[in-house]
Amino acid sequence: MDLIVARNRTDLIKARRDGSVALVPTMGALHEGHRSLIRAARARADQVVVSVFVNPLQFGPSEDFSRYPRTFDADLDVCRAEGVEVVFAPAVQDMYPPDRQVSVSSGEMGRIVEGASRPGHFDGMLTVVLKLFNLVRPDLAVFGQKDAQQLAMIRRMVADLDVPVEIVGVPTVREPDGLALSSRNRYLSAAERQVALALSRALRAGAAERVPSKVRAAARAVLEEAAPELELDYLALVDPATFCEVPELYSGEAVLAVAARTGTTRLIDNVVIALSPA
Ligand code: AMP
Repeated sequence: MDLIVARNRTDLIKARRDGSVALVPTMGALHEGHRSLIRAARARADQVVVSVFVNPLQFGPSEDFSRYPRTFDADLDVCRAEGVEVVFAPAVQDMYPPDRQVSVSSGEMGRIVEGASRPGHFDGMLTVVLKLFNLVRPDLAVFGQKDAQQLAMIRRMVADLDVPVEIVGVPTVREPDGLALSSRNRYLSAAERQVALALSRALRAGAAERVPSKVRAAARAVLEEAAPELELDYLALVDPATFCEVPELYSGEAVLAVAARTGTTRLIDNVVIALSPA
């Protein structure tokens, strides 16, 4: 069946078929990471809807909204190749009429770690995700572990606001040398890409340890070697559900998350580590 491109609510309703629906929200510039999400959606539902929307609400004033890569025709080819039924690509003015008032607040959890570096980011992200849920009305929605705090915040929103959508998380897809795939990787020069490898190297070094202080120290040492070309924003070892820093005597899964800049490109990455006290 042909891929349907839905531009608005009416198109979406027309594209609706009987059976279960899985939504994969994206900002386009689709790569293998997005494909992995689409395959997880494909395996779980009768109809797959991929949204392609660069959401202005989740970009800060000094961030890359206007230069964010937009590759819509290539994105449609990816969706066709993956057997997607519907691409939902609304216009900014339709999603956000000028008289809008109400939005989602991400609370205290939206102001820590990634949220501390990007004020308003998680409010904007949750607002668009809830709108997409209300427009598409999926049974389930698929998100990448690559944006670990985003995934945790969406799970929190679904629980706190009783949103009737099942949330599925998918592991991070990486290049053979460890670099996590990201639409922003295309900004990197060859030299910057080499520097950026320190993120995944640091996470691997941290993941070889089992105690929080050692995890943090091992990761930090790798990141320091890459300075000053790599400018560290944060390194955090947190509870996967709350994103609060874990104490030294912690056992169970934790997320080691890093954000850093090389040149003008800001990159994030994370790994899940099973911790056990010494
Ligand atoms: P984005 O288009 O960057 O907003 O990402 C859309 C979705 O793809 C989010 O759920 C991301 O977490 C996910 N994603 C981005 N990069 C990767 C990756 N390398 N592996 C798995 N999922 C990813």
